[in-house]
Amino acid sequence: MEIPRRASGSRERGIAPRAGRRSVMNTAEVQLRLAEVRGVMFDIDGCLVLSDGPSGHGGSVLPGASEAIELVRSSGRSLAAFTNGSMQTSAQIAASLRSMGLDIHDSEVLTPAVVAAETMQELYADLPLLVFGGSGVVDDFERRGLNLIDIDRALAGAPTNAAAVVIGWDTEFGKDKIQLAAEAVLAGAKLYCTSDAPSFASKERLNVGVSGFITVGLSHVTGRPYRVLGKPSEEAIKVVSRRLQVHPSQMLIVGDDLTLECQMARRAGALGCLVTTGTHSAADAAAAPAEQRPDFIVDSMIELVQWFAMASAAPAAGRN
Ligand SMILES: [Mg+2]
Repeated sequence: MEIPRRASGSRERGIAPRAGRRSVMNTAEVQLRLAEVRGVMFDIDGCLVLSDGPSGHGGSVLPGASEAIELVRSSGRSLAAFTNGSMQTSAQIAASLRSMGLDIHDSEVLTPAVVAAETMQELYADLPLLVFGGSGVVDDFERRGLNLIDIDRALAGAPTNAAAVVIGWDTEFGKDKIQLAAEAVLAGAKLYCTSDAPSFASKERLNVGVSGFITVGLSHVTGRPYRVLGKPSEEAIKVVSRRLQVHPSQMLIVGDDLTLECQMARRAGALGCLVTTGTHSAADAAAAPAEQRPDFIVDSMIELVQWFAMASAAPAAGRN
């Protein structure tokens, strides 16, 4: 829905965001919701940083990202940085972001592996799980003491009796693993995927998504459906809400991908913000289906900081 630009003069000159025309919500609605936000989830690639690889690997900080994090923290809101990559552990990603100058704690980084491990624990308790991926996937399962099947032994012919198959960032997924995973799925194990995003926003080259590539192939050879646990899943919303310690309606979800963060925000009933420094543009948002539409759009994290400043300066009468 196109809406008129916000009335001039309600905020200091020079820092007023010009998002009115590009928002689904009008400016007053965005301000109202922003003022009520108690926790913020930032995407990483294409939102906070632009990298050579997923999760901030070899990257640089995008303009305003550091200030946005500082603002969220200093305002007493909780914060999470959620990547759909499962190549690295949360601690490794946090260290990488800190090395670039972003003030992010280990416990504030979420990956689909975190969601997968928490979800598997809830659904399957101590049943055997066939989990594919490097340390970025497996560490979260091991730390929670989940029952991981020894893949080398299974490849050598040991029976798995797997209750579930979880596919993460496994760059060594060849014929033997395809066979092992497919047989487990055909024997009744449920198929899960950390992320089926085709690619990640990056500096130059297309950064292809490994987990989705494998999972779609397994679904093809077995004829069985799969379930995504990363963004924008219900499972991911639950984990983020728990980590931020706020109800989804009090969350702001910021990201560069309409199909991931914006769809997640819609699904959760959170406030959704598209930042156009990565995968999708404002034109993409205008053409997107309703379930992927952001509530407002910013050109950079600098503009998001301006929105927050405007929301905190909005008259209290407007917040009823
Ligand atoms: Mg992204």
